Amino acid sequence: MKRPDPAAVAAVRAELEAKLGAGQVSADPDQLEVYGHDESDMGDFAPQLIAFARSTADVQQVFRTAFAHQVPVTPVAARSGKSGGSLPLYGGVSLSLERMNRIVSISPEDLTAVVEPGVITGALMKAAEELGLFYPPDPNSWEFCSIGGNIAENAGGPRALKYGVTRDYVLGMQWVLPTGEALRIGKRTIKGVAGYDLCGLFVGSEGTLGVATEITLQLIPRPRKVMTALVIFKDVLEAARAVSAMLASGLLPRCLELLDDVSIRAIDGRGFSFPPGAGAAVIAEVDGNHDDALLLELEQLSQIAAAHGAIDTLLAQDDAQREKLWAARRVVSTALRALKPFKISEDIAVPRSKIPEAIAGFKALGARLGLTVATYGHAGDGNLHANILFDGPHQRPQVDEALAQMMRITVELGGTITGEHGVGYAKRAFLSLEQEPGLIAFQQRLKTFIDPLGLLNPGKIFESDG
Ligand SMILES: Cc1cc2nc3c(=O)[nH]c(=O)nc-3n(C[C@H](O)[C@H](O)[C@H](O)COP(=O)(O)OP(=O)(O)OC[C@H]3O[C@@H](n4cnc5c(N)ncnc54)[C@H](O)[C@@H]3O)c2cc1C
Repeated sequence: MKRPDPAAVAAVRAELEAKLGAGQVSADPDQLEVYGHDESDMGDFAPQLIAFARSTADVQQVFRTAFAHQVPVTPVAARSGKSGGSLPLYGGVSLSLERMNRIVSISPEDLTAVVEPGVITGALMKAAEELGLFYPPDPNSWEFCSIGGNIAENAGGPRALKYGVTRDYVLGMQWVLPTGEALRIGKRTIKGVAGYDLCGLFVGSEGTLGVATEITLQLIPRPRKVMTALVIFKDVLEAARAVSAMLASGLLPRCLELLDDVSIRAIDGRGFSFPPGAGAAVIAEVDGNHDDALLLELEQLSQIAAAHGAIDTLLAQDDAQREKLWAARRVVSTALRALKPFKISEDIAVPRSKIPEAIAGFKALGARLGLTVATYGHAGDGNLHANILFDGPHQRPQVDEALAQMMRITVELGGTITGEHGVGYAKRAFLSLEQEPGLIAFQQRLKTFIDPLGLLNPGKIFESDG
């Protein structure tokens, strides 16, 4: 696919300015440049036009107008994506959902929230908590990512171990298809099995099958008590084995987050100091309604950890200490950048029993290729962020080999190439490692059925698209 002719884009711009209002369309070069990148480090792909939707009707209008002129459209929200999903690879229109940012309603009786897609995830969490309710999906980017982006990537976070991922909380949606049709899919009730499960199909569709313009989410009562401990190990393999043993013990913490030696080095002293000798750590968090029960659970987890070599377990004494610990965890990705000039971050997931093998495999790979590998992440659900740190483009051949090997190791262990960031642009070359040709072809047929012109977010997920 080629970038569309500027004349076609100019025609789209004129029509959208007339229909949406001039303030809802931008061709300002500085703004276009901003919309040309996200958090994937996959390069710059500036759109030729940005359209800011304020309603379902606006989204329908953008699709109808742009596609009539054969101009591609790429949905974009907060641009925190790590797989390049919002990058307009072939130019055209970036369709921004940021201005659709209203929490429409929260019902404590029905335990539901109705939100527009541009609502920041953290804003919904806070609004629910103020009413004694809980929205559990907590991608570490919750302070700035949006519910629409979470829907598209089926985002998950540390609490997925106990509470599941975004898909588990989506009851229904207003969904605009690339043809411009708007469908109300799903339900408002916890149960409901009428027709095909289209929410199941569209959640995780990475902005390639349409756009969510209103979302009905399930909430749950907020656990009244939360306790967090930091378990210190000398070695990451001991920590990984301890995580596997904790999970096999019958306990279900809400988070088990792993930090290896390189990650600890990166965040040590940034608002949180690790004890001397720490070569790996696990953040273990439990929740419920009774302090005694939580203390007992943490004590049991600590005993399992000690049996696997833990040298200490430190209990956060209050919310301020808990937040300090989590703030340190949230900063790992950025802090690793300070260790080496270049970083590539993967988000593979393996069956939980295979976590030690995966980590050992990645470390050995790094040593063999002369690269620093940092592994941290949501070890409780097997979703590991394996990062390759390197000095410059001269190491790119080794980095590419390391990436390919990492994906192979993951798939051979029964895992998946992406646990939460999506395939997008970043991982489309690896999809065939995990999925057989017939399955990929079936999904491409589905895409063609829903987006016959192939103009919605082209070039994503599948290598041959676009
Ligand atoms: C520091 C950091 C930590 C992170 N931690 C996590 C984590 O713990 N777990 C996790 O899952 N992710 C994590 N991420 C990745 C990222 O935040 C998530 O993928 C998030 O869901 C993207 O949301 P966004 O609003 O930024 O979407 P964008 O990046 O703008 O877009 C992402 C995709 O969504 C599509 N899209 C946007 N809005 C809509 C819509 N309304 N309808 C249909 N498609 C749409 C876009 O086309 C694109 O394909 C992290 C990112 C950073 C930078």
